[in-house]
Amino acid sequence: MACAVMLARGGASVKILERGERLGRKLSATGNGQGNVTNLQMGPEFYFSDEPQKVARALSRFGARETISFLESMGGIFLPDGRGRVYPAGRQASAVTDLFRMELARLGVETVFGAQVTNLTHKSRFTASWQGGREEADAVVLCAGGRAAPNFGTDGAAYALAEKFGHTVSAIRPALVPLKCDPSAVRGLKGIRMDCTLRARSGGKPVFEGRGDFLFAEGGISGDVVFRASSYVKKGDTLEVDFLPDVPEKRLYSILSERKGEGALLCIVPNGLGRFLYARAGGDVNKLISLLKAFPLTVEGDFGFARAQVTKGGIPLAEVDDSLQSNLVQGLYFAGEILNVDGACGGYNLQWAFTSAHLCVEGMLC
Ligand SMILES: Cc1cc2nc3c(=O)[nH]c(=O)nc-3n(C[C@H](O)[C@H](O)[C@H](O)COP(=O)(O)OP(=O)(O)OC[C@H]3O[C@@H](n4cnc5c(N)ncnc54)[C@H](O)[C@@H]3O)c2cc1C
Repeated sequence: MACAVMLARGGASVKILERGERLGRKLSATGNGQGNVTNLQMGPEFYFSDEPQKVARALSRFGARETISFLESMGGIFLPDGRGRVYPAGRQASAVTDLFRMELARLGVETVFGAQVTNLTHKSRFTASWQGGREEADAVVLCAGGRAAPNFGTDGAAYALAEKFGHTVSAIRPALVPLKCDPSAVRGLKGIRMDCTLRARSGGKPVFEGRGDFLFAEGGISGDVVFRASSYVKKGDTLEVDFLPDVPEKRLYSILSERKGEGALLCIVPNGLGRFLYARAGGDVNKLISLLKAFPLTVEGDFGFARAQVTKGGIPLAEVDDSLQSNLVQGLYFAGEILNVDGACGGYNLQWAFTSAHLCVEGMLC
């Protein structure tokens, strides 16, 4: 959608081919429905890819400020929260999609719905075909997403369109995804949410430490700090959760050595968690403090593409130039998650969608 708006503004004749019946269904679900479109703390260090330098150059050409200006050029006000995460002031992701739909209509960009492109060929021009239709064009931007969240139309089938031209797809796996843990370690805690510090170790070595929203889920854990950790951990790695990162152990010791019984943790952690930890500590104060400050969990895997926010891996940046044009086929561009770029949790993946859209458009219109 960003590509189409930018191209149409530049005077190009554009058509969007969309397999679903609506545009921007995934965008409307982002940021817990609030639309975390970018982040003021922007830089290549927030991204994984096969060519970090290319990502750095891309962000220097179109970063968070440019994204905000671009979105505000369509309407609305976009504001950061205390952590730099930028949202529409109305905190409604679907309204961002509506801005795009209105701008596309104003620019006269046509969308063909129900057009799941299953074949893309190139002779003197490109031909995209789908059941019941075909379309020709001088250039194509392949921006069909990755494999994460298939309920939004992204099941990974579109990688094959690029592979037919000789492109490769680096190993893909779910990222920003809830983690599975030993069910007995989290039983009865589902729905408990806290601001925690999470530490992860792989083979005994620290691989992640971060603070943020932490949530016990059915058979595992979720929340923004877990999503961030998911890019660094694998099955068998160990986690420690500090439920009270702002409270030193000493303070806890002086309080808990005085208080006994099930109410000992009232107003310290949520009641359900308090009862669970107290029972597990068996009344031992030191053990209770250790559970509060370093609750142990073992990663048993992740919840897969169906529950992931993004796809790690994809078409390597090594196979495209700085305009994200294919090194193999002139006029074929790639944007968004289909490329081997995935960002941290906090607006970085939509930023990549906008940045990559801009690069393609710059390349096409110059
Ligand atoms: C629940 C959820 C929450 C998220 N929250 C955030 C957030 O707050 N901030 C953030 O930065 N990122 C977030 N993300 C990630 C972000 O939404 C994606 O990285 C981003 O939408 C990718 O944009 P894209 O244009 O590459 O692909 P998509 O948005 O996935 O769009 C791809 C489109 O291509 C269509 N399509 C697929 N195959 C074909 C085909 N063969 N022919 C025609 N059409 C096809 C699909 O139907 C889809 O409409 C979230 C993701 C999810 C699932």
